[in-house]
Amino acid sequence: MALRISVIGTGYLGATHAACLAEFGFEVLGLDIDPDKIATLTAGRIPMYEPGLSELLLKHVAGHEGSSGRLRFTTSPQEAAEFGDVHFICVNTPQRKGEFAADMSYVDAAVDSIAPYLTRPALVVGKSTVPVGSASRLAERLAALAPVGEGAELAWNPEFLREGFAVGDTLHPDRIVVGTRSERAEELLREVYATPIAEGVPFVVTDFATAELVKAAANSFLATKISFINAMAEVCESAGADVTQLSKALSYDERIGGKFLNAGLGFGGGCLPKDIRAFMARAGELGADQALTFLREVDSINMRRRSRMVELAREQCGGGFLGRQVAVLGAAFKPNSDDIRDSPALNVAAQIQLQGAQVTVYDPKAMDNARKMFPSLAYADSPMEAAYGAHVVLHLTEWQEFRELDPAELGTVVAERRLLDGRNVLDGAAWRAAGWTYRAMGRPS
Ligand code: NAD
Repeated sequence: MALRISVIGTGYLGATHAACLAEFGFEVLGLDIDPDKIATLTAGRIPMYEPGLSELLLKHVAGHEGSSGRLRFTTSPQEAAEFGDVHFICVNTPQRKGEFAADMSYVDAAVDSIAPYLTRPALVVGKSTVPVGSASRLAERLAALAPVGEGAELAWNPEFLREGFAVGDTLHPDRIVVGTRSERAEELLREVYATPIAEGVPFVVTDFATAELVKAAANSFLATKISFINAMAEVCESAGADVTQLSKALSYDERIGGKFLNAGLGFGGGCLPKDIRAFMARAGELGADQALTFLREVDSINMRRRSRMVELAREQCGGGFLGRQVAVLGAAFKPNSDDIRDSPALNVAAQIQLQGAQVTVYDPKAMDNARKMFPSLAYADSPMEAAYGAHVVLHLTEWQEFRELDPAELGTVVAERRLLDGRNVLDGAAWRAAGWTYRAMGRPS
């Protein structure tokens, strides 16, 4: 009989994972502690913006015309525990308040919530990003709490999806990494991922610690690449060089490659910043902190980008923000997402507001989330409305919509035609031709 799978935590990762497992042909039950989220998903809607996910959800959620009916949702841990042969843990692991370390309380609570109902052999698979050593700890916790004892086994299967491409990344990942302790666990995971494996996706089997570390290492590498090019942008600004030409020239070197090599406002979101910090904290606990001191610099370079943008905006406003209006284009931490966790755009908007400017934000998809988190900022329904009366326009999230703006048209509503491109993707020549002062990060003014 085909495996039945439960997915615990139905946020950005879990909702996508659940829908994609249904697409692979499994019966899937998603569990969350948030009843509103479960009601929304059951109604066939997604509580976030993620391209392609709504369609996939409607294709499979039970109770909708024409759906496969293979996907259901619940708030009952008992139901999920009794339903699944395999249980994926996809709950959040945020940064602890005032510390670098990861808050593991949600993962622990998720394991604790299903374990007492595991009365037959089951595989619990962690997908959340966790400090190395967590899987070993959780394996003991699980075996101690589950009535079936050792029959409740643990495995670790870190997730590498990118928001904005989550469905494609889950259906066709670059690789699948699993940390296992038994042949049975490996076999079950090979069965779960039979479709991508048949397509030739590499399936890497490791021990627990290595699997956990692959995720931390991948994020550290990506963050380092972004901060590397942003450090070059700082030098370019001092030397009067152009970082976009520099990165293009670097990208032709196949050993370097062009991805994650765009200088700008830096990284944010619910993963990279907190993951490199948690990695540093964990390395410290293990006595290996020296190995990761470079990540502290990676983090500092990244945060300096935000201060630099505030500084450039202040300059454009004539040296101070009092009585000035600033338009901010972008609120999501990156395009094609409504996720505003640790968003560089909103961080800059909030800093500028604190310094006395009147700030109006527009984002194609992240307005509701931004309003909830930053209620004191002003919000507009379009780039034109945000820019009305502005002394400077800041381009902070590289949505396609902003690349398509007509500089001449936007120029009719602003107080001053001044644009700061925090993402280095707008056509500077076109903006200048329309009478704008176009300034970007890491490029000559
Ligand atoms: P999220 O906050 O969007 O979703 C987490 C969900 O888990 C929420 O809906 C929450 O209500 C639910 N939850 C919390 N405790 C629970 C419990 N005890 N039982 C059931 N549900 C519970 O977070 P996310 O972005 O989906 O990230 C989840 C994990 O995946 C994190 O560890 C993150 O680092 C990792 N990850 C995320 C991404 C990404 O792009 N979002 C990519 C790779 C890895």
